Amino acid sequence: MAVDQSPVPRLSANNIQKSFGNLHVLKGITLDALEGDVVSILGASGSGKSTFLRCLNFLERADAGQITINTQTIDLDAKPTKAMDAEIRSLRAHTGFVFQSFNLWTHLTVLENVMQGPLHVLGKSKAEAREEAEAVLQRVGMFERKDYYPAQISGGQQQRVAIARALAMDPDVLLFDEPTSALDPELVGEVLKVMRSLAEEGRTMLVVTHEMSFAQDVSSKVVFLHQGEVDVIGSPGIVFKEGASEHFDKFLVNTRH
Ligand code: ADP
Ligand code: MG
Repeated sequence: MAVDQSPVPRLSANNIQKSFGNLHVLKGITLDALEGDVVSILGASGSGKSTFLRCLNFLERADAGQITINTQTIDLDAKPTKAMDAEIRSLRAHTGFVFQSFNLWTHLTVLENVMQGPLHVLGKSKAEAREEAEAVLQRVGMFERKDYYPAQISGGQQQRVAIARALAMDPDVLLFDEPTSALDPELVGEVLKVMRSLAEEGRTMLVVTHEMSFAQDVSSKVVFLHQGEVDVIGSPGIVFKEGASEHFDKFLVNTRH
């Protein structure tokens, strides 16, 4: 019998719906990220990109659909229960989230920022948390700044620390919400470089971005959202081909100006 060698789905979203009051923001989004996939999520402002990403990390509770990470599924169509809350907490620990605005603790040093999750969420010892934090800070090129406070380093450096903080939790999936949008143009490159290296290392990543070269060159899959729906999805070669989607062609023209 042939052995199934197909890659493992790390994260699957099925028919995710979300409304805020009367505003129907996500109208049934379905997508898979296989192990090692880098999925770029593109779309105009207000198309639901952040809401979708936040639903995947349960920062926002979707109204309907299913979210599977590894083999664990949360069925959002089912009535919420205490058991579901516990499952959600355990699933959240498998995803790392990187925000546009870094969200570092300003009163803690770089090293302390990275140690918090392992110490307080994973229950590691101080020595272990420190050792691992130092290793991930090396990974993003921020070890030399470990005793600085966030206000003493640049935005690009802060974002690299935020990436280290996410990595310290040893997540199965990394979620990035416009990680370079708050940066001065000259600082974008250092963050993209770290993200490229994580992609090359085979990390599973979903990245909301306006960096078209990242989407085109680094991702294995591109999703374009239009008004809360998947308008077009596929490899960069397919999605970026002129004529794949009228809405996407228009979006590209607008982002170039
Ligand atoms: P994007 O990230 O693609 O710019 P968002 O997901 O942030 O889009 O927002 C999609 C829509 O949902 C927008 O119209 C936004 O105003 C609305 N929205 C997002 N979060 C909330 C919220 N917490 N309460 C009410 N409306 C929201
Ligand atoms: Mg957004």
